[in-house]
Amino acid sequence: MDNLLKDKKISETPFRKEVLSIFAKYSNAIPLSIIEQDLEQYNRITLYRTIKLFVQKGIIHEITISGEHSNYALCKAECNTISHLHQHIHFKCKKCQIIFCVEVDQFPSIKLPDYKIEQLEIQATGLCLKCNSSS
Ligand SMILES: [Zn+2]
Ligand SMILES: [Zn+2]
Ligand SMILES: [Zn+2]
Repeated sequence: MDNLLKDKKISETPFRKEVLSIFAKYSNAIPLSIIEQDLEQYNRITLYRTIKLFVQKGIIHEITISGEHSNYALCKAECNTISHLHQHIHFKCKKCQIIFCVEVDQFPSIKLPDYKIEQLEIQATGLCLKCNSSS
């Protein structure tokens, strides 16, 4: 995680490092409001720019579930400036409202005649492990 910014050829600033450390702290996807809450001090414009840069560089990805604010989660190493090719499912727990990136053994490969898929997202809802075992 320490070298991630360097690896992605992004100049290190204390603010960028702090934002990155917040992502590292959570194992699930987080909305901007959580990042804002966790930052020592922040400037909204700088935060938006940092998030945009991280998405462009393949450090984080955006998850949009209809009718909600965007959530963001760390990418795996294979993401880059050109593509975010995730082979995982976005699972939203109906009870705790947390969005998780869930790795699966077999991600369906779909071919659309005449169309070139650049991004494919599968979303699922239900109960996460914690909520399921407490209900
Ligand atoms: Zn990605
Ligand atoms: Zn839950
Ligand atoms: Zn994800």
